[in-house]
Amino acid sequence: MKGQLNKRIAAIPPSLTLGVTSKAKQMKADGIDTVNFAAGEPDFDTPEVVKRAAIEALERGETKYSPVPGVPALRAAIAEKLNEDNGLPYRPDQVVLSNGAKHSVFNVMMALCREGEDVIIPSPYWLSYPEMVKIAGGKPLFLRTREADNFKVRPEALEKIITPRTKAIILNSPSNPTGAVYTRAELESICEIAVRHGIYIVADEIYETLVYSGETHHSVGSFGQDVFDLTVTINGFSKSCAMTGWRLGYLAGPTPIVKAISALQSHSTSGPNTFAQYGAIAALKHTAEARAEMGKAFEARRDLVYERLTAMPKVSCPKPDGAFYAFPNISQYGLNSVAFTEKLIAEQAVAAVPGAAFGADEHIRISYACGTDELTRGLDRLEAF
Ligand code: PMP
Ligand code: GLU
Repeated sequence: MKGQLNKRIAAIPPSLTLGVTSKAKQMKADGIDTVNFAAGEPDFDTPEVVKRAAIEALERGETKYSPVPGVPALRAAIAEKLNEDNGLPYRPDQVVLSNGAKHSVFNVMMALCREGEDVIIPSPYWLSYPEMVKIAGGKPLFLRTREADNFKVRPEALEKIITPRTKAIILNSPSNPTGAVYTRAELESICEIAVRHGIYIVADEIYETLVYSGETHHSVGSFGQDVFDLTVTINGFSKSCAMTGWRLGYLAGPTPIVKAISALQSHSTSGPNTFAQYGAIAALKHTAEARAEMGKAFEARRDLVYERLTAMPKVSCPKPDGAFYAFPNISQYGLNSVAFTEKLIAEQAVAAVPGAAFGADEHIRISYACGTDELTRGLDRLEAF
């Protein structure tokens, strides 16, 4: 009927992480002393060397359409990074740049999902995954994990949930929203099952550089040819290089998937911003030190948040080993996560995202990607609350 929208699109709720973040930013702009624990966005500015490279590219006239999957020099630099840092033997022609890693995940779901097929999403999950699967025509199949397991998938539980319709599993280590980081052995058990059932692995490694307590990030595609052939690796610049507003992310994967995604992108967004891509080349080549420094700052903040949260009565919180989120359980206060966060922002001007948005209503998500002063102020207020 005229006036009625596409059913799949009409059913999408707007992203709550972005919604609460923009509410907190607006409150600050209105002069309200607000603490923003909602934004999944580093407070740091983009490293100078990256900005310079983009400015120089602009001045050189890099203002024309980019090739759809990205400029060759950046695809080559990404393939080199994936080979050297991650042990992933991708060629440059297996890399596709998009408008943020979010766009890369979206493109993968569009390419993979056939009507009625399942995509396994370990829960708690980053809130955009299920919506992307549904938009693509697939069905999210949630695999509940437990706080006592640090929210990591148990191989037995995975084995049980797989059906003949299962197409893929999304793995996100370090995890948004829980901060969980999988060990190599844990990932290997999951990959063994995926390979045995012929299920694709979508490895969202956007928080790869943010791992603490001596933990190490492992790329699943590096575990052997059989896993590599079933893996699509996703990464980007937003979190590691403080480039959220640049809107640049990438994926690398098997050639047929990459070709399908390039074709899709050629009819939707075309290649991403050309001069931003020249900034990204500098981000890959010249920011090792800046990344390490930001990582250190995040680790100190993680220590502070974890110490303060676990000292609060009736709060439990698994230790986050990566990303920049803590995911405390607040259920003993007798409010669901939406009521808790609404009251928290109304009474203390502290913005946090309700766990319900990530499939875990007993929790709230606290992003510690804000500065230490703001962090301390927010934790004082949370404690008072
Ligand atoms: N994956 C996860 C788990 C995220 O938290 C984010 C944050 N927005 C993204 C992907 C996408 O990041 P971006 O689009 O900014 O590259
Ligand atoms: N990924 C970040 C978050 O979860 C940024 C917002 C978004 O893209 O969802 O807060």
